[in-house]
Amino acid sequence: MDPNVEKFMARVKARNPFEPEFHQAVQEVAESLVPFIREHPKYEHARILERITEPERVLLFRVPWINDKGDVEINKGYRIEMNSAIGPYKGGLRFHPTVNLSILKFLAFEQVFKNSLTTLPMGGGKGGSDFDPKGKSDNEVMRFCQSFMTELCRHIGPNTDIPAGDIGVGGREIGYLFGQYKRIRNEFSGVLTGKGLEWGGSLIRPEATGYGAVYFAEEMLHTRGDSLKGKVAAVSGSGNVAQYTIQKLIQMGGKAVTLSDSNGTIYDPDGIDEEKLAWVMQLKNIRRGRIREYADQFGCQYLEGKRPWDMKCDVAFPSATENEIGKKDAETLVNNGCKVISEGANMPSTPDAVEVFLRSKILYGPGKAANAGGVAVSGLEMTQNNMRLPWGREEVDNRLQTIMKNIHQTCVNFGTGTDGFVNYVKGANIGGFVKVADAMLAQGVV
Ligand code: NDP
Repeated sequence: MDPNVEKFMARVKARNPFEPEFHQAVQEVAESLVPFIREHPKYEHARILERITEPERVLLFRVPWINDKGDVEINKGYRIEMNSAIGPYKGGLRFHPTVNLSILKFLAFEQVFKNSLTTLPMGGGKGGSDFDPKGKSDNEVMRFCQSFMTELCRHIGPNTDIPAGDIGVGGREIGYLFGQYKRIRNEFSGVLTGKGLEWGGSLIRPEATGYGAVYFAEEMLHTRGDSLKGKVAAVSGSGNVAQYTIQKLIQMGGKAVTLSDSNGTIYDPDGIDEEKLAWVMQLKNIRRGRIREYADQFGCQYLEGKRPWDMKCDVAFPSATENEIGKKDAETLVNNGCKVISEGANMPSTPDAVEVFLRSKILYGPGKAANAGGVAVSGLEMTQNNMRLPWGREEVDNRLQTIMKNIHQTCVNFGTGTDGFVNYVKGANIGGFVKVADAMLAQGVV
């Protein structure tokens, strides 16, 4: 490791103990930025890297609620307001039992760069709770969301901090959160994105992250004169991002053969077509069942406790969670002929897996670039809310495609080496950094 990166990381680790995911995300960025900053001393003098790794504000609060049996339950609530140099804090809420400060700080940190890459005026934030929506009734989820928002509403607002969904927070949860915010603050505003269409939501928002990851993969393939047509894809997860990744893949002539959840993976070599996908959406979004049922329904293989990475594929779309591709998985993917990784999830590849991808010179699109479509359309939802004018489907989709193309171009501009290989990690980190850093310089030491 570059000794300057090592020195910087020693300081970050000492100041943020017991936060391995946060250290991991910062280190990946520092490896790109430390050499860049050395060539641009204005950032060094203003200690931008030290400041950008320190959240502007961290909120931690108690979320008490009553379950269907009448018992009191207590969860932790968080909001990390990471950076507001280029716009109000913006980033999702995650409800999952693994949620802790380290995970939310890594997500908020990534969000700063991602939001900057979209070119829209959005700062970075992230929040959530260790609440597990799995197995809870709609009423329990509603009571939890109401309690969570009762505290959160003091800290957010359409010009301050605009949360959205993430793992465990979809349309249902955004609805309950919005309803409670409106009731307490007595205002109908664009304080959350991912809203229902009838009450301020944007067309294409549910689709945006998955569609964007597919558009990004297509852009990467174009640099090698290739396309997704006829490509076999391994997709992990079976939630929002995975579902719309598969929908767009089908539209672009690709074939997805896997889906997973935290219990296991299904492998369907015939491909997951529109009809099977509609069934998955019903299973996951309405019945809230397990992916294992797909194998019974369509007569294919179910691999209990396994991830999809052993399956032969041309393209991989990790769309479940962080660190879901380890070194061995990465080696298997590359050895099986996988040529493209487009990360729908945030930080799904461990650092040594990323090293395998970069060393193999395959097309590797890191999450902060490849999955930026979701927050980009959230930004478009905010614009529509401010104008009080909804755009049509085609208009939003065209804007999404243009944004993904521009993000890709930024990565190429900042990440192309002397041998012509595009290091998208470096490109995304530097491309996302410059705008935020310049805004921080302009705004003084704040
Ligand atoms: P969902 O809650 O809709 O789906 C998550 C999926 O991932 C589920 O299939 C879930 O399985 C699986 N999963 C979650 N945690 C784990 C785990 N620890 N191990 C194995 N599988 C797991 O979330 P999204 O689709 O919205 O989010 C997926 C990823 O995409 C996350 O990394 C998120 O941060 C990222 N992302 C999402 C955006 C969005 O717009 N929604 C935007 C940008 C990034 P199970 O049901 O068993 O938990």
